[in-house]
Amino acid sequence: MSSQSATETKGTAEKSASQFDAIIVGAGVGGLYALHRLRGMGLNVGVFEAGADVGGTWYWNRYPGCRCDVESMEYSYSFSEDLQQEWRWPERYGTQPEILRYVNHVADRFDLRRDIRFNTRVLSGQFDETSNLWTLVTDKHGAVSAPYCIMATGNLSTPRVPDFAGLERFEGKWYHTGLWPHEGVDFSGLRVGIIGTGSSGVQSIPIIAKQAKHLHVFQRTANFSLPARNAPLDAGVEKRHKAEYAERREAAYDTPFGIAGFPPPTNSALEVSAEEREAAYEAKWAEGGSISFLYAYNDLLVNKAANDTASEFVRNKIRATVNDPAIAELLAPKDHPIGTKRLILDSDYYETYNRDNVTLVDARAAPIEEITPAGIRTRDAEYDFDAIVFATGFDAMTGALLDIDLTGAKGVKLADKWADGPRSNLGLMMAGFPNMFLITGPQSPSVKAQMILACEQHTDWIVDCLTYLQTHGLARIEADQTAEDEWVTHNNEVADGTLYPLANSWYMGANIPGKPRIFMPYVGGFDRYKRTCDEIAAKGYEGFTLTPTRLEALAGD
Ligand code: NAP
Repeated sequence: MSSQSATETKGTAEKSASQFDAIIVGAGVGGLYALHRLRGMGLNVGVFEAGADVGGTWYWNRYPGCRCDVESMEYSYSFSEDLQQEWRWPERYGTQPEILRYVNHVADRFDLRRDIRFNTRVLSGQFDETSNLWTLVTDKHGAVSAPYCIMATGNLSTPRVPDFAGLERFEGKWYHTGLWPHEGVDFSGLRVGIIGTGSSGVQSIPIIAKQAKHLHVFQRTANFSLPARNAPLDAGVEKRHKAEYAERREAAYDTPFGIAGFPPPTNSALEVSAEEREAAYEAKWAEGGSISFLYAYNDLLVNKAANDTASEFVRNKIRATVNDPAIAELLAPKDHPIGTKRLILDSDYYETYNRDNVTLVDARAAPIEEITPAGIRTRDAEYDFDAIVFATGFDAMTGALLDIDLTGAKGVKLADKWADGPRSNLGLMMAGFPNMFLITGPQSPSVKAQMILACEQHTDWIVDCLTYLQTHGLARIEADQTAEDEWVTHNNEVADGTLYPLANSWYMGANIPGKPRIFMPYVGGFDRYKRTCDEIAAKGYEGFTLTPTRLEALAGD
């Protein structure tokens, strides 16, 4: 390919350790599959990973209670029938250790580690138009280059500790859920404060509460959470699922979330009686799972009045679970429609507030003002802690890419291009950044789909694209500005047709002070999105400019 063709490099035992046909940044579930596929094309691939091992999200997020909110029979790779038949998930929802074990198994089974440089952070990247090469500067392996660069840097991979004054003076220990110590943390007998009640907080709070002497939960915004109803994986369910795995995976591509088995609802929540609605929500509540609940009716995410019925149902469940009515009211979300922030799945979250050793602190009424040497000071009170847990989330979807100082063609900086929010064509490529591909970038379904399938779909599109370039004697592909603008407009229009923008969510960039407010994931449906990607490819990559070499492109300018 280009200056180093795939056929030239195939089988070359000793290549320069700094020159590749393709570089992949990140060895999480996306990067690993990309490595497997690109290697299958015969390319010499270099993967650079900041962590000491594979797994990405599942490598870093080791906090107590960490578990996937997509069922384990779904949250796994589909590319190998043997792999999906042989792997056995013990529970309905995979725990972090189980999923990490699975990812390690995949890395070993497909012999992926030998191309991965661990403990290596990519600091910057620059595209050279003359040589048509991306050069990335790493902190451990110097500069490395390749004609193609695949950014598998993850959507929730830049942990964020809010800018509280005084943290450096705290005399106890503090942790971020997304950077959890590998050896684990024993909170037994400790006074613990936890800040944040998103998915990470809600999953860890019940476990930490069981260990700690006392746990104070600092909640700024109440979130909706449903019972996960986790349980050992039923042998019959596993058998049936495995018997039809291939068909289910195929069918998953024709669903809005990338998960088969949830027939699309046909009724509005407003066209049935209150009793019928209540019974439907009750059944979904008993079943567990977020897609199932939000699929109770067809308008829960697009019609506020319809959504109000589901939101109120869950608020009433909270009121019925939590003994103290004042605490229940504080836990009952009222500032956003259910589902417009990531709908959380929990095990005994609301029940935890009935424990004597758990106190809910309203960090909205009395915001945290500083971290003191002894603990946390809010506007109204001081709290002493031995340990503080930050379950305060991530600089989502853009943070990891913007942490790398990326410069595309004509000196354009990603930080400037994205100053008013991310812009991409299909979440796959960006105008001004030739030959750089994103795995589940902003404006793709990514976090609104089954992430592993989303990673596979992106990688498959990229592999088809590179194969097309190869067979047509092309060396360079770049998103057209007009096509990118149209896609961003479409992304925003689709989001504006839903209730999602009503929430101050990380989908909107609203969790980071100063971050531009733009709805980042594509919510037009994974099925519709995939069809669009396939159509664009079938039309010879409509909306992208493909050129044999940079020099020929310039001659045509
Ligand atoms: P998050 O949803 O962004 O939650 C962060 C929490 O920290 C929020 O409650 C936020 O309050 C609070 N916070 C931030 N700054 C604060 C401040 N200065 N003072 C007080 N509170 C503050 O982050 P997350 O829980 O880590 O979850 C992020 C995403 O990761 C999830 O939505 C999900 O997609 C994924 N995840 C998935 C799973 C799973 O599969 N089960 C588990 C964990 C995470 P505000 O809401 O007021 O900003």
